[in-house]
Amino acid sequence: MSDVLNYDENCLFCKIIKGDIPSAKVYEDDLCYAFRDINPQAPTHILVVPKAHIQSVAEVNKHNEALVGHIFTVIAKIAADEGLTNGYRVISNCGPDAGQTVPHLHFHILGGKKMREGMV
Ligand code: 5GP
Ligand code: ZN
Repeated sequence: MSDVLNYDENCLFCKIIKGDIPSAKVYEDDLCYAFRDINPQAPTHILVVPKAHIQSVAEVNKHNEALVGHIFTVIAKIAADEGLTNGYRVISNCGPDAGQTVPHLHFHILGGKKMREGMV
């Protein structure tokens, strides 16, 4: 079980971080947790989340920007460990128009296939 800062008892990802809901863990440290997406959109599809409950990119500010920077260091490490040498995509959906379904900041790492051109 992990400590969750600002634990939100109604938040699915807070429950996953705490271990109350099982997940396929890929990486963990004091600040963040990474696990495989339950509905993968690519051969490798991993979610990286801060342990602190931050709702979305819209809540990133000077008080937590170092944490977000750390998450990107972790993303690069996970991608290397997963062997995504040919590239990968990092996505964070923010709010309803972007289709964010879980209101706990998370970064999707998608890789292992050639991505379609489209929104980005
Ligand atoms: P969003 O749509 O908010 O950007 O991404 C939420 C992601 O969480 C989706 O890709 C969805 O498949 C994933 N997800 C939702 N519930 C669970 C769960 O219980 N376990 C895991 N591992 N992933 C989940
Ligand atoms: Zn949460």
